[in-house]
Amino acid sequence: MKFFDTHCHIHEAQYELVGDDGVRSKWLQAGKPDPDDMLTQAKEDGVVGAICVGTTAADSQLAVGFAQPRSNIWASVGIHPHEASLHINDEQTLLDFENLAANGQKIVAIGECGLDYYYTHSPKAEQERLLRFQLGLAQKHKLPLILHVRDAFEDFWPIFDEYKGLSGVVHSFTATTKELRQALDRGLYIGLNGIMTFTNDPKQLEAAAAVPLDKLLLETDAPFLTPAPERGKICQPKHVVVTARFLSKLRGDSLGSLANASTVNAAKLFGLEL
Ligand SMILES: [Zn+2]
Repeated sequence: MKFFDTHCHIHEAQYELVGDDGVRSKWLQAGKPDPDDMLTQAKEDGVVGAICVGTTAADSQLAVGFAQPRSNIWASVGIHPHEASLHINDEQTLLDFENLAANGQKIVAIGECGLDYYYTHSPKAEQERLLRFQLGLAQKHKLPLILHVRDAFEDFWPIFDEYKGLSGVVHSFTATTKELRQALDRGLYIGLNGIMTFTNDPKQLEAAAAVPLDKLLLETDAPFLTPAPERGKICQPKHVVVTARFLSKLRGDSLGSLANASTVNAAKLFGLEL
């Protein structure tokens, strides 16, 4: 049985608290666990690899550097909508980011990028500009997208639809069957994580149960969103198995078929040999 974590931030566990994006302080609180120890533990539980996801230009560089020497790790380069204000008028940083996306080895996706109206840490117009910039890069380099869309699908789809030929995953999917249909209609994959194990929203569970097996991806978003019953511990890639066990019961799939299908899906979307 093979599992794959399509979305984590473990590369940040090894760095100091400089230019923190909220992830590093979380790792620090947990005593800065060694990312390679986490990967060893994950492997023992059947997790064959992970994608380290960048959230800023600098963090994306770190994710790429972390992935390069490790055979079972890949990187996604992206600028999170929270960080839009920080980056959108910084031409040099955006240029560096573009160069990284063009030349960095082991980059398998652009993201996480999208719109976040739940927190709206950056103004909507700036989030949109940054999203368009990254949709354009994905199109140019023929890379799939790791999309972060929270309370913003109505604005998101018309923008997304302007760019043809895109593929990707709606990561940390917590919307309803309506948004699920909209994503599936566009050929997108659906990333499910620990939230499903502790949500009290029956509509989220209904949507999670309705994701076709050939469109489902597993993820942790480590260090965040530790699945139940492990709540209170720091989230790491091995926890993808805990979420998978929950989803297999919810959906009525065997754990083996859920594991293998989601791993095949990840390999297909991101072009990996797993
Ligand atoms: Zn994330």
